Order: sequence, then structure tokens, then C-alpha cells
Amino acid sequence: MEAIKKIEIEEIVKGIPGGFFIYYANGEEEIIYANQEVIYLYGCETKREFLEYTGGSFKGMVHPEDLERVEKSIADQIAGNPRNFDYVEYRALPKGGGIKWIEDFGHFVKSDIYGEVFYVFITDVTEKMERNIKQKKRLMNLAIDQELLRKSLESTVYSFVKVYMINLRDGYSREIYPDISNEESKRYTDAIDTYITPENVMEEEGKRLRKLLQPEHLCQALVERDSVEYRYRRRLTDSTVEWCMMVFTVSDREKGLPVTVTLGIRSIEKLIQKENQQRLLLESAFMRARQASEAKTIFLANMSHDIRTPMNAVVGFAELGLRHGDDPEKMRECLRKIQDSSQILLRLIDDILDMSRIEADRLQIEVESYDLLEIMPQVYQMVEKEIHDKELNFSYDFSGIKDRMVFCDPTRMKQVLYNLVGNAVKFTPGGGKIDVRIRQYESLSYGIENYEFVIQDTGIGIAPDFLSKIFIPFEREKNSTVSGSFGVGLGLPITKNIVDLMNGSIETESEVGKGSTFIVRLPFQVVRETEEHEEHVQVKQSFSGLAGKQVLLVEDNELNREIARELLEEYHLLVDEAEDGDVALEILQKSEKEYDVILMDIQMPRMNGYQATKAIRGLSDSRFSEIPIIALSANAFEEDKRMAISSGMNQHLSKPMDIEKVLTAMQRLLDAE
Ligand code: ADP
Repeated sequence: MEAIKKIEIEEIVKGIPGGFFIYYANGEEEIIYANQEVIYLYGCETKREFLEYTGGSFKGMVHPEDLERVEKSIADQIAGNPRNFDYVEYRALPKGGGIKWIEDFGHFVKSDIYGEVFYVFITDVTEKMERNIKQKKRLMNLAIDQELLRKSLESTVYSFVKVYMINLRDGYSREIYPDISNEESKRYTDAIDTYITPENVMEEEGKRLRKLLQPEHLCQALVERDSVEYRYRRRLTDSTVEWCMMVFTVSDREKGLPVTVTLGIRSIEKLIQKENQQRLLLESAFMRARQASEAKTIFLANMSHDIRTPMNAVVGFAELGLRHGDDPEKMRECLRKIQDSSQILLRLIDDILDMSRIEADRLQIEVESYDLLEIMPQVYQMVEKEIHDKELNFSYDFSGIKDRMVFCDPTRMKQVLYNLVGNAVKFTPGGGKIDVRIRQYESLSYGIENYEFVIQDTGIGIAPDFLSKIFIPFEREKNSTVSGSFGVGLGLPITKNIVDLMNGSIETESEVGKGSTFIVRLPFQVVRETEEHEEHVQVKQSFSGLAGKQVLLVEDNELNREIARELLEEYHLLVDEAEDGDVALEILQKSEKEYDVILMDIQMPRMNGYQATKAIRGLSDSRFSEIPIIALSANAFEEDKRMAISSGMNQHLSKPMDIEKVLTAMQRLLDAE
């Protein structure tokens, strides 16, 4: 710091306005001299304080983030800046805090006294810089705003191929886009002539457009509206056409009449494509709705035919039976026919119920271990009579099965096979042949085997166009009134749904006049020896163990009570009747008897089956509150079953009452006691 002692420098630079300092132009950049202004600028009072604060080096005077830039400027200057003067701006961090902007004019000198040094003149330009920064920011924002504005205007304008400004009062128009510099005005009617030419616009469209574009017409169209649109087809050079649109928008009015109008012309090819797609979608939705409604109308017609026919038989044979009261043989014949027709009716109702379960996604598969060889004899029983009557040649072959015990839903399996075999029988004329074959083949999954059921007939066959609709609900090839066969066209859709639920597949091959083949493939888990359940070995039961058991039958319908009583009494059960839940409760509590089981209807006046069950379960005496209760109800949905169980019943059976099912349920419940 001996340099600072050199009084003569002090003397020379005293009068210099602003900050002035000198430092060595070496790596250390040691400060040789700094005037008072510099010292104040850095928030210091004395030279000592200043040197301490800056570390006695120029490096300590510059904001660390600006240092690299400043050093570069210095290096350039030393390397021989043609101006031999460097100008640089940087930030300083004065001792008291904050930031100061410094404007620095440095001058590299080789001095005799000090060697290579920098003479530096600095000024505090903080205020100016802050103003500049603010201004820059404002300009930046302005630029961003303008850019946005430009872009949004452009995106609107760019959607047009051309934009014109039309003055309806003087009849002149001017193109304002894409040629924005165009200042030439044309008569509007001439502009129309130039634009609507046979090369440009389709002939018919041209005539129509000309009319619409006449100033008087435009003026009229725009009196009450701010804009009108006209669509037309424009010819393209490659002889194709493109859909375009003219949009006229009022920019200026006088006394309600449009004066200045903007016309934009744009291609609407994409819009038209989209509209076409939407129209097609709408049309196909409409077609589907119409088909569905037609199918339902046909369904209703078929239904009424299919219900009426067996109903006629029931009514007719009941009448005949009454007349033949004295001839037991004839009477039995009538009853048998009534029974047959009732079975048909029941199947119809079951199908309708199944279909509504399927439509509500409520059809469930309940798996248990089952012997596949048991299915066919049972299905055969159901069609035996018709096979016999029509003298059909029926054969079935199960020899292709190795593992007969599988986990499956026996009821649904029987339904699938019955639907297919039943159809084969129904649609095969007398003397025809029906083959049912089942074979087993390996699957890739461990423990799972595939089973293929083939039902082949030599019947009337199915026409190819109907074959594709065969699994659609309510579809039948012929109106059932015409074909003379029963069925509402629900069998195959139900079959397909069940097969799908069992993760299987169904295929059909058919030729009109030759016959049809239905192939069902299903994967089943094979039951290993140890898993075989005793209950499935069980054959027909005698139910003798139930004789003498006391039943309370709760049912509001007198006829149903009578049927149930007679059937139960045939198996030597003792039956008491109650016509609703209320009466049942009273009987239970007052009677001396102890009831073994209650058969409970659900829908009854005064107190329904759910309420009665809850009341019984709530009784304090366990002799009553623990009696097994079986719901016997016409409500056959899964949900009804769940409600029955949750109200406290032990089992749910649907009506009409299947006596064997009721007795099996009773036996299970009473044995379990
Ligand atoms: P349904 O038999 O109750 O009418 P399906 O859904 O079982 O209802 O069958 C629909 C239609 O498919 C039948 O009406 C019939 O036209 C046709 N079809 C089904 N199976 C056969 C078959 N094996 N041979 C000829 N036509 C059949």
C-alpha cells in the first residue's frame, strides 16, 4: 500500500468527479488507490475499512455473479482492445447491504512507477439501471401481450382463406387478408364476379350463391342478425370439390342497417366430415333403437302366442277334466296335458326371468362338484316324449370323457344342453337324426380340462343371414305363429350368456335343409378324488325321515295352500296353515304344538314374509325363534334370495313349489339340527 502514500497521485486525482481507483493488472488485482467517492460507494467511511471490506482487491469490489463477465472484459482489454478502454457494468455489494449498479470505464496502462495497472473511473448508476430494468420488463410484457394478441388474431384470421371488408353503402370491397397491404378497393359486385366463376364454384351452387350475395339480400339478411353463413362447394384444380363457408359479420351499422360487413371465406371440409360422422352415428343409433323396438314388438306378439297356446290347453283340458269327472282314465289324461302345458309356461317364465337377470348383470354361476355323466339322462328325460312322438333317431356319446367329476354349475349346464338339444328336437322334422357328443381335451392350465359338447341335427337348418343374429335376444327366424313352434327367441341368447359366464365359447354351423351343429367348449376344474363330496353320490331320496314332522305353512293364496298341503301330506308331513305373517305369529305363540319347519310366502297382506321372519327370530322363546324357515316365493331374483336370508330365513325356494326341492331343503335343515 505504499502506493497510496504517493501524495502526487492524490493531488492529481483529487479534482476528478465520481469514483476513481487504480489496481494492479495482475492475478491478485491489488488496489493501489481509491478516492473517497469509491469508499463511500461501497458503504465505508475510511480507506482502511474499504480495503478490509474488499480484501484490498478489485475482485472484492464486484458481485460474485458478475465477476466472470468483468474479468473477461479486463482480459480483452489487456489483450489489446482497439479502444484501449473498456466499459463494463456490474453490481457491487456495499457494506450496509443492498445492491449498487456500477458503470466502469477501465484504462489499462503500463506505468513507469507502478508497472501494469488499471485506471478505473466508476459511477453509481443504480437508479438508472433500476429504471431500465423496469422499462425492460414493461416492454417485455408488452411484447408478450402483443405476441399473444397477434397469435390469437392470426388463429382466427388464418382459419379463413380470404377476408374482405365490404361497404354496403358505397358498394365497394377490399381484401384485407391474406394481402394485408392491399389498399385497392373493388366494386363488390365485380368481386363477386371474379370469385364465383364456373371454374371456381359448382354451377348450381354458383347460381344460389349469387342470389344470396347480392347487396340488397345481404343487407336484409343482416338487419336482425349480426352474422350469416352460407355453405357451398368449391371446385379444386384436381377436379375434386371442397366444402367452403362464407361468413358475413356486421362491423358497423347505421340506424340499424349494416354498413360495413366483414366477409370471411374458409374451408369446412373437416367440419362436414365430423357432421357426417355424427349423422351416421345418430342414424345407426336410431336404426338400433328401431330394431330393438321391432324385436320387442315381435317378442310381445310371440309371447302372447306362446303364453296363449299352453294357457288354452290348461283352460281347455281343465274344462274337459271337469266334464269327465266320472271317467278317471280320461280325467288323468286331461291332468297330464295340463301338467305338460304348465311346464311349457314355466319354462317361458324362467327364460324371461333369466334374460332380465342377464340384462341387469345379475346372472350368477354357482359352482359345485358334479358328475358330467348325470346331465344327459336328465336332459334326455325332458325331450324324450317329443323324440318319441317325432320318431327321431337320437344318440349320445360320452365315451370321450376321462374325468367326469368337475366343478361346474349343474343347473346352468343342464339349461345350456337342454336349450340346444331342445332346439335340435324342435327344429328337426320327423325321422331326422340328432347326435350329442362330449369329449375332453387338455388345457394349458393345471387342474383345468376342456370339454367340448357337440349337438348335431339333420333339421331344417338356419339361413346364413339369420345365423349372425342367432344370439341376439328376441330374434327368431320365423314368427312363432308361422313356424308353429314354441319359444320366444331367448333360449340361445341365454345359452350364450351362460357359456360366456363360464369362460367358454359357442359356435354354430348350419345349412338350410341339411341341419345344424352347435359346439360348446367349456373349461372345468377337475375334482380330485379327495374332493368328491358325499352329497353328490346321493341318488333319489325317499324322504321317509320327514314323515310326522310338523309344518307351518304361511301363504295367503288359498289355492297355493291347498296344493302345498296335499303334496306335503303325501309324504306324511303334518301341515297347519296361516294366511299371513300375523296369523302365523299368533299360531306359533298360542299353539301347544312344536313346529319343525315353517314354509313362508313373501308377499302377503298385513305382515309379509320378511317382517314375519324378523318377528319370529326376535321372539324370546328359542323353541319358536330357532325354527328353520324356508321362503317359498314367486320373487325369484338373486336379490330376493339375499333379502330372504338377511331377514333370517334359512333358505329361499322359488314358486311354483317343487316338492322334491322343498323336501330336500327340509331334510338338510332338520338333519343339521
Ligand atoms: P326359441 O327356440 O325359443 O325360439 P332360441 O333362442 O332357442 O329361441 O332360438 C332362436 C331361433 O334360432 C329359433 O326360433 C330358430 O329359428 C333358430 N334355431 C335355433 N336352433 C335351431 C336348430 N337346431 N335348427 C334350426 N333352427 C334353429
